Amino acid sequence: MKRTTGQDRSITAQWRPATQAVRGGTWRSEMGETSEALFLTSGYTYDDAATVAARFAGEEDGMTYSRLQNPTVAMLEERIALLEGAEACRAQASGMAAMTTALLCQLSAGDHVVAAKAAFGSCRWLIDNLLPRFGITGTTIDASDNAAWEAAIRPNTKVFFFESPANPTMDVVDLEFVCTLARAHGITTVVDNAFATSALQRPLDFGADVVAYSATKMMDGQGRVLAGAVCGSAEFINSKLLPFQRNTGPNIAPFNAWVVLKGLETLDLRIRRQSENALKVAQFVEPRVPRLLYPYLPSHPQHALALKQMKAGGTIFSLELDGGRAQAHALLDALKLVDISNNIGDSRSLMCHPASSTHHGVGPETRADMGVTEGMLRLNVGLEDPDDVIEDLDQALRAAGL
Ligand SMILES: *Cc1c(COP(=O)(O)O)cnc(C)c1O
Repeated sequence: MKRTTGQDRSITAQWRPATQAVRGGTWRSEMGETSEALFLTSGYTYDDAATVAARFAGEEDGMTYSRLQNPTVAMLEERIALLEGAEACRAQASGMAAMTTALLCQLSAGDHVVAAKAAFGSCRWLIDNLLPRFGITGTTIDASDNAAWEAAIRPNTKVFFFESPANPTMDVVDLEFVCTLARAHGITTVVDNAFATSALQRPLDFGADVVAYSATKMMDGQGRVLAGAVCGSAEFINSKLLPFQRNTGPNIAPFNAWVVLKGLETLDLRIRRQSENALKVAQFVEPRVPRLLYPYLPSHPQHALALKQMKAGGTIFSLELDGGRAQAHALLDALKLVDISNNIGDSRSLMCHPASSTHHGVGPETRADMGVTEGMLRLNVGLEDPDDVIEDLDQALRAAGL
């Protein structure tokens, strides 16, 4: 098992993203396989006892146990790190494993976190419910308001945590401003980049410290496996994340890592086409509904910022209806092509009602605080012909009285 010719990091880091996505991090066994091998193994054997000792002592490279290293997982980690422009990456079992690990590996009792109030339901749950149990306090703010970040800083603030665009309110955070502010106060920025991915926005380029992913979404891209990743400096990964991960075990399964590795090969193609489709579908739907939220439409409150920091608008938009849950459910129930599903990043168009699905668990008060209304629907636009998606939405909007 060795890195393929030309896989030295000094070379691969110079490749353009589309090349990194197809070839970055590839290792080959003595069989010379073209497609990356799937190492479905938990353990490893050794030729002699001295080798085991040397590997455990860190004096010799090599695998010891799949909670610590696995060749397929290592290929995925290297590929994601290259795409993200990060020194290091560790794959995780799911997006939520990635978020939990990225936060808990660096926080201790007495620390304080400032987080975006609009977030994926489980991300918000970590701040509101999990961290306080360990003596870590949190302040949630309107993340699109630069002054709110500054005002929320306390002497014990250790981490800024947010998504951009946020799920499902599509709030866009000013990456350069927030990351620069954090740096000036010695605060670590953790960005959940699931909606944009490195193909549309690289938070490290704007000064972020840590990027955490649900790779379940765009990176897999075909709705098959749960996966996650945390990227950052070698110092952060080795001294903070790795000791936590090795001893608590939120590791990804090699099979899931292999699926995401193959998914990454087409990430750039898919996200660009799906973003084009999403823009076209959003332009069709916008005049028919009271409010539509998509960063690449001029009506988005942070349109200029989105143009500045994202290469395209992404695959997802949200819309709000005045008729509350009943009208939103009526629209969903009339869909014939688009599936009712709470997943995103899939090559299929999927629609959901966040208040009764992804954001049910945070409760009505937190939903109101975040801006997740009863009339809100979220659509992930897939790789289908956008005209078919438009025709389906046209009839579903009519069925819902729009
Ligand atoms: C889906 C999602 C997560 C959670 O990821 P899982 O892979 O489902 O655990 C976290 N953050 C955002 C923004 C998401 O969309």
